[in-house]
Amino acid sequence: MSKVVEEVIDANNQYVADFGDKGNLPMPPGRQFAVLTCMDARLDPAKYAGLAEGDAHVIRNAGGRASDDAIRSLVISYKLLGTKEWFVIHHTDCGMETFNNDIMGDLLSGSLKTASVDETGWHDCCEGEGTTDGRFIEWLTISDQEQSVLADVKRIRNNSMVPDDIPIYGYIYDCKTGKLNEVPEATAAGRAVS
Ligand SMILES: [Zn+2]
Repeated sequence: MSKVVEEVIDANNQYVADFGDKGNLPMPPGRQFAVLTCMDARLDPAKYAGLAEGDAHVIRNAGGRASDDAIRSLVISYKLLGTKEWFVIHHTDCGMETFNNDIMGDLLSGSLKTASVDETGWHDCCEGEGTTDGRFIEWLTISDQEQSVLADVKRIRNNSMVPDDIPIYGYIYDCKTGKLNEVPEATAAGRAVS
């Protein structure tokens, strides 16, 4: 067993020991909201937004972007599980600001090994076979955090499956302080109509 697997199983055993009555929680989120945020390891939505088990849906991907799959989850979140308010939360110092589609396509063409980054940008170690498949993917990278939050709130707001009465709030999490800073233009674009 790898060290990581061992640590995860040990931690889980402790969690099970302290699980209490959480086995009785209903499936629909008790506080009726959802958060779309980045997978960045420094972000812990349960802590930065005060969530306990059963409280809210947390949808995470690289960048916290409103991809088709994120929208799929949000639609399920309200249509089947009753959430009534949504947050889009990107963050400072996001890895998605460090590359673009061309760079990712080039890196994957070089090899499938983990690339490295320095002050001059990303570099591939160029061992082994690469693939051109990465050139066909929209990686949803970010060049401006406020603009990406605004774009994602708008994209969700304008989706035909999203009802007008769900407010969508836009925020940027500050990795230096842990603070959520609102992007007022995004929250305004996401306001509920009815
Ligand atoms: Zn990120």
